[in-house]
Amino acid sequence: MAGQNPSVLWIGCSDSRSDPERITNAGPGELFVTRNVGNIVPYHDWSLAAVVEYSLTYLNVQEIIICGHSDCGAIKSLDTDLHDPYIPLWLNDARDAKTRVDSRIPVPKTQKEIKERDHEIELENVRLQVDHLMTYPSVKKAMEEGRVRINGLYFDLATGTLSLVT
Ligand SMILES: [Zn+2]
Repeated sequence: MAGQNPSVLWIGCSDSRSDPERITNAGPGELFVTRNVGNIVPYHDWSLAAVVEYSLTYLNVQEIIICGHSDCGAIKSLDTDLHDPYIPLWLNDARDAKTRVDSRIPVPKTQKEIKERDHEIELENVRLQVDHLMTYPSVKKAMEEGRVRINGLYFDLATGTLSLVT
C-alpha cells in the first residue's frame, strides 16, 4: 500500500480489550490511532497534540472519535487513592468526569447503583475529553473551517456494541 489515507483519527483507551480495528472491523489504512490510559485528552499534551495536528493537517481526517469503554480501570481508579508516581497525575485530566456525575446523582448504595455510577462516569469522561479536544488550536481551526466532526463513542465489552455518546 503506497502511503496512508485514513479518514478517522481514533483516540481510545489502552485497555487490551478495546482494540479499535477489532471493534470497528476497520482494515489497514482506515484508522489513525492513538491510545492511552482512560482515553484522555489532556489540556496540554505534546504527544496527543502532535497526533491531532498531523492527522488534521497532513492526513486530512474528516472525523475524530474519542472512544470510552465499559469496565475501564482508569475510571475505577478515580475512586482510589493511588500512590504511583505518574498514574494519579495522568488521571487528573479525567477527575472532572467523576465530579460532574457525583454532583447530579445521589450517593450510590447498592451494587447496581455503584455499577450505574461507573457507567455514567465512563460516558461523562468521553464528553469531558471531547470538551478538552475542542480547546486544541488545530481542532478549533478545523471545526471553524468545517473540515472535521468530532464524535464520542462508547464500547460495551460485554455485548460488543458500540454506541454514540451524546
Ligand atoms: Zn479503559
